[in-house]
Amino acid sequence: QVPLKPGRSLMDWIRLTKSGKDLTGLKGRLIEVTEDELAKHDKKEDCWICIRGFVYNVTPYMEYHPGGEDELMKAAGTDGTDLFNQVHRWVNYESMLKECLVGRMAVKPVAAPKEFILISVLYHRIVELSRYCAVTSYCHARFFLMLVEISSTLSEEKKQLNGKYSSGASYDWFQTDSSITIVIYTKQKEVNAELVIVDCQDKRLRGEIIVGDHSYLVDLGLDNAVQEDTAVNITEKVGKVEIILKKKDNVHWEKLGQPLESHNTFIKRTDRGLFYRKCKLVSKTEVTHDTKLFCLTLPKSTHLRVPAGQHVYLKQIIAGTEVVKPYTPVLPFLPLDFKEPSRHDGAHLYLMVKIYSHGLFTQALDHLQIGDCISVSNPEGNFKKSRVQSLEDLFLLAAGTGFTPMVKLLNLALAEVSCLRTVKLLFFNKTEDDILWRDQLEQLALKDERFEVQFVLSQPTKDWVGKEGKISSSLLSEFVKRSRKDSKVLVCICGPTPFTEQGVQYLKDLGYSQEEIHAFTA
Ligand code: FAD
Ligand code: NAP
Repeated sequence: QVPLKPGRSLMDWIRLTKSGKDLTGLKGRLIEVTEDELAKHDKKEDCWICIRGFVYNVTPYMEYHPGGEDELMKAAGTDGTDLFNQVHRWVNYESMLKECLVGRMAVKPVAAPKEFILISVLYHRIVELSRYCAVTSYCHARFFLMLVEISSTLSEEKKQLNGKYSSGASYDWFQTDSSITIVIYTKQKEVNAELVIVDCQDKRLRGEIIVGDHSYLVDLGLDNAVQEDTAVNITEKVGKVEIILKKKDNVHWEKLGQPLESHNTFIKRTDRGLFYRKCKLVSKTEVTHDTKLFCLTLPKSTHLRVPAGQHVYLKQIIAGTEVVKPYTPVLPFLPLDFKEPSRHDGAHLYLMVKIYSHGLFTQALDHLQIGDCISVSNPEGNFKKSRVQSLEDLFLLAAGTGFTPMVKLLNLALAEVSCLRTVKLLFFNKTEDDILWRDQLEQLALKDERFEVQFVLSQPTKDWVGKEGKISSSLLSEFVKRSRKDSKVLVCICGPTPFTEQGVQYLKDLGYSQEEIHAFTA
């Protein structure tokens, strides 16, 4: 501890952090910091320190540091986590230094290889076996000791591999008389509700945190029963996720539970199997003569948001066989006002589905009664939100139910992209009766001058005065025009596969690059 100058108390520091002054020098921007970059900031007047994966510009804090400037300078331009842990592990630096956050250390995620999964599985099987032997007194003492020895070797191996492949993510838990809180430290900045998927059913807790193409998983068979509703709190900037479970009985839990197969792993998302939960059909409303809007409720214990451009898989048993088909969740309606951020309750999932008269899945779906359940997977899809974030022109080419991914995209662009100038939708259908949400689209076009919609019919009646035909190069060259010569543009296309393939080819012929086109496909 060193004496601090007048006007340099903790309260003064808090006041300074609340003053709105730019303390990082980055105007609120967060960046990824490489080791080389960090090392450059090693002087008092320009001092960055990394703590638990996050980099802070501590120069403005120097004179307020109770331990003195020299102490802080010991970690200048380096990872000061160990030093920090030795001296002030208890300090809530996350909020104290919130305004000094420069960003996260750049770390390359490493996929857990098969060996890791194998060791986890082996470990749990051996533990189960030893427990069985202990309970039943069924085996020779020597054999039992061997099992214990193997399990401790595997446990050590697992720990080491886990450290290597968990990308620093970890979890902890604590309890009160009535609740259990599991805290996941993702070590990632900007974790938001779309990246956290939690389910808790039949004493199984599953919490998945999406980190780029990878995910961290907490997957446990809980030791005791919990109530149905589960709360999730996310501290976005520091990447902390709390899952709060309500105990069914107010008993003290000796332990949280048994790790399941992929518990505490950090692996490629695509290497995880699809996880499903049962959702209840709460309403079914007509959109057109053959298309319906299905509203499903997620279980109270499920926290899941489907990001724009992603789909889910529905699973039903049809004639004794599990059938799975992808569907793209939409919004309950097209919002018209983007000044207020739209509030989605997160508890419902809306699917706009065309019922084919001979369709296997859609016929079964249409036969579900209100109150019936259907299995819904985690969201999937390779569309990245970041592709929309700095756009000036967004062109959407949709055919039939290929309109579904456009709904959230439209909303995202109009609500959140400040530099956006135009969003144009070219919507291909057979007849006027097939156009989905026509009134809503026309209303939106009237209300928001950035948005324009044009309908193209392939089988119009004589009265149709709009565009006719199919997707073609001439139609696209007229429609997909940048609002300015160099404007940043994205063209999204979705419909029957040949429609999408042709469209992509026409766009390429018109000079659009691969990066400027996104095709929604299976
Ligand atoms: P199927 O039994 O597969 O048949 C569909 C219809 O096509 C039937 O009328 C059948 O007679 C006919 N048919 C089948 N094969 C052929 C063929 N080779 N030639 C001509 N006709 C044929 N659909 C939506 O409605 N909403 C969505 O939000 C949605 N999202 C999707 C997202 C993705 C990523 C993908 C890939 C598809 C999406 N689909 C969506 C389509 C959906 O997955 C199903 O393909 C669709 O619902 C049809 O399923 P089905 O089992 O009822 O039809
Ligand atoms: P549809 O009513 O049969 O067709 C819509 C329009 O597209 C019609 O004008 C139709 O013209 C035209 N069209 C159909 N096939 C074409 C082709 N080969 N070339 C050019 N134009 C063509 O469409 P739908 O029944 O709603 O089907 C929508 C499709 O979108 C499904 O295949 C579905 O799987 C797909 N989809 C994909 C995703 C995804 O994310 N990948 C999401 C949702 C939907 P015609 O009069 O000539 O038929």
